[in-house]
Amino acid sequence: MLAELAGALRAMNVKVARTLDEACERLAENPEAEVLAGGTDFMVEVNYRHRSPKAVVAISAVREIAGWRLENESGGAGGMGADAGRYGTLWIGANMTYTEMATPAFEGLLPSLTQAARTVGSPQIRNAGTIGGNLGTASPAGDTLPVLAALDAEVLLRSADGSRELALSDFITGPKQTALQQGEIITGVRVPLVAPTDASNDIGRGEFLKVGTRNAMVISVAGLALIARHDIQRVCVGLGSVAAVPVRPTEAEEWISPRLDWQQRSLLDPVDVETFGEMVAQAASPIDDHRSTAVYRRHAVGVMAKRALVRTFGSN
Ligand SMILES: Cc1cc2nc3c(=O)[nH]c(=O)nc-3n(C[C@H](O)[C@H](O)[C@H](O)COP(=O)(O)OP(=O)(O)OC[C@H]3O[C@@H](n4cnc5c(N)ncnc54)[C@H](O)[C@@H]3O)c2cc1C
Repeated sequence: MLAELAGALRAMNVKVARTLDEACERLAENPEAEVLAGGTDFMVEVNYRHRSPKAVVAISAVREIAGWRLENESGGAGGMGADAGRYGTLWIGANMTYTEMATPAFEGLLPSLTQAARTVGSPQIRNAGTIGGNLGTASPAGDTLPVLAALDAEVLLRSADGSRELALSDFITGPKQTALQQGEIITGVRVPLVAPTDASNDIGRGEFLKVGTRNAMVISVAGLALIARHDIQRVCVGLGSVAAVPVRPTEAEEWISPRLDWQQRSLLDPVDVETFGEMVAQAASPIDDHRSTAVYRRHAVGVMAKRALVRTFGSN
């Protein structure tokens, strides 16, 4: 078995790209070539013979798509709504690992993504696994995806032919299916900053919650990100593992947002909290599978929605 695997790996044509241009060129010159980032999904598929790549372009040494940076912090519309310039946007490179998402500087900007990153796998997986790989796999259980959905993230793509940007909802087209075309690389994502970077309060930060069959090293049975966006005064929610693609319970968002006090932490009416939870649960379309039942998944997202709202805004 191991010998066979070693043989398969030897048969692969592996190119290690150092720049984005080089990665795009390598992909363009070989239509069979596949992108390898941290390998935490890719190599599992190779090991289980679900994937037999003939050629690989390894991108983990491409520094241009590593790390994160603030964009449009002062002035300028920033391309993500009229208020984006006031708050800025955050560019997250595709090669950013979960370990990097857990650093204090990043956590201060987008704590919900840090919370999601901390729930992923083991330290080894978090050191190697990337946000680009989570998007590339597009599993309904991908833990960054509810956060990115709640933030209406733009997915940034590049190939030898040029660049394009897709809304996350257009990028993920089904379970483990994306709009990524042959020769394209995910270079990163762009999300709005949900509170001014100098904010003294922590309203608008957000929560990520996940239910699994155990506490660690677990694929999500249901996941939820709730982000209270100061810039548009709206509670935005992303649901994971409860449909083929990440879900936005928009009716629930529209119902609760005007009922909240956006200036200060206000105590919520428990009846409103309950109704919000029920509305979020109704937006899910889960399935029964080996990890859980549809009934439990729907119940879990309702409970997580209430919990995340109360943690963010407080309750009577
Ligand atoms: C033990 C274990 C535990 C795990 N636990 C979790 C968990 O708790 N939560 C979770 O969400 N995931 C989990 N995963 C899955 C995996 O770690 C993540 O999905 C991770 O983000 C994949 O990133 P990667 O860099 O390793 O991607 P890779 O494995 O290198 O690639 C994954 C896919 O994305 C494509 N790809 C990668 N980067 C790019 C890019 N920049 N452009 C275009 N295509 C690209 C690849 O071609 C491939 O199809 C786990 C995996 C393992 C093995």
